Amino acid sequence: MKIKAEYIWIDGYEPTASLRSKTKVLNNKILSVSELPSWGFDGSSTLQAEGGDSDCKLKPVWMCPDPLRGGDNILVMCEVCNPDGSPHKSNSRAALVELADKFKDHKPWFGIEQEYTLMDGKQPAGWPEEGFPERPQGPYYCSVGSENVAARGMVEDHLDLCLEAGFEISGINAEVMLGQWEYQVGPLPALEVCDQLWVARWLLERIGEDYGLTVELHPKPIKGDWNGSGAHINYSTESMRAEGGISVINEACEKLGKEVEKHIAAYGANNDERLTGDHETCSINEFKYGVSDRGASIRIPMDVANEGRGYLEDRRPASNVDPYKACAALIDTTCS
Ligand code: ADP
Ligand code: MN
Ligand code: MN
Ligand code: MN
Repeated sequence: MKIKAEYIWIDGYEPTASLRSKTKVLNNKILSVSELPSWGFDGSSTLQAEGGDSDCKLKPVWMCPDPLRGGDNILVMCEVCNPDGSPHKSNSRAALVELADKFKDHKPWFGIEQEYTLMDGKQPAGWPEEGFPERPQGPYYCSVGSENVAARGMVEDHLDLCLEAGFEISGINAEVMLGQWEYQVGPLPALEVCDQLWVARWLLERIGEDYGLTVELHPKPIKGDWNGSGAHINYSTESMRAEGGISVINEACEKLGKEVEKHIAAYGANNDERLTGDHETCSINEFKYGVSDRGASIRIPMDVANEGRGYLEDRRPASNVDPYKACAALIDTTCS
C-alpha cells in the first residue's frame, strides 16, 4: 500500500523565510524518520542555489501523522543541506542540534506562544473591506460573540489538526486585534518545540487555502493603535524548575541583559515596528525584566515569583521568529 509523505522545508528568503513542501509517494508505511530517504529540490526556485548548480538536499529529521490526509500518510520536517550533506547556510536547525546536545544536562524546556493574523484579502478577517472596525481594540481579546470574533472555525480546525498530529499544544485564544489569534506549543525540549511549531505553521497555512484566508506573521500588520503579533518564548532549565530556582531565573535575566543585540537579531524581522514600548511591549532600545510586567522585555510570571521557581517569559520574539534561532540564542546565553 503506497503512502504520501509531505516533505516540508524552510526556503532561503530573507529576512523572513517561508515554508515549502512537496509530496513523496513511498511504497511502505514508515515507522521512524530514519527509514525515510533523503530527497532533493531545485534550490534556484527558493533562493537557495544558483541555476547552474541548483540541487539542494532534503534531509528528513522529524515526522508526524498527516492529520489532513489521514491513514498512514505523514508530514516530514526536513533540513536543507548542500549536495555534500553539510548544512546549507539557510539551515538554522543544524546549529540548534549542536547546542541542544552540548547543554542537554540543563534540560531546557520551551513554550512558544504563536500569535498571528488571519487576512481576508488585504484586511484582517472580520474587518470591513476598507478602513477599520467600528470599535477600537478592547472587546476582542479572549472574546465570544459574532460582533467580537472572526474566523473561529479555521482556528478550531487548526487546533484539532495539531492535536491529531500529536503536537503538544497547550492552548489557543483570540487576541487583542480583531482577526488576530494565538496558539501555544510546549513546554517541550528545543528541537521538539521548534519542529512542532514549524509544522503547526504549515498546517495553518495549508487549511487557510480551504478557508480562503491567509496567515500574516508580520509583527505589525496594521499600523497605529492595533496590537502587533509576537511569539513570547517561555523558557526554563532544570535548575530554574527546582526548589529555589528563582535565583537561577534572575541570573538568566542578568545574562540576557548583556546580550540584547544578539537576541534581537535572532527574534525576527521588522520587530522594531512592534517593540515600541506601547501595546504590552518594551521598547526595542531598552531591556528590563520584572515580575508580572507585560511592559518588560522579560516577564517573570506571578505564580513563578510566588513559588520561587519555574520559568521566565521572553516577550521580545516576533511572530515571524525562526524558533530554531531564538531557542539557540536562549540556550547559548543562559547555559554557558
Ligand atoms: P500568557 O499568560 O503569557 O498568555 P500562555 O498561557 O499563552 O501565557 O503561555 C504560557 C506557555 O508557557 C505555555 O505554552 C506553557 O506550556 C509554557 N510553560 C509552562 N511552564 C513552563 C516551563 N516550566 N518552561 C517552559 N515553558 C513553560
Ligand atoms: Mn499567551
Ligand atoms: Mn498573546
Ligand atoms: Mn505571553
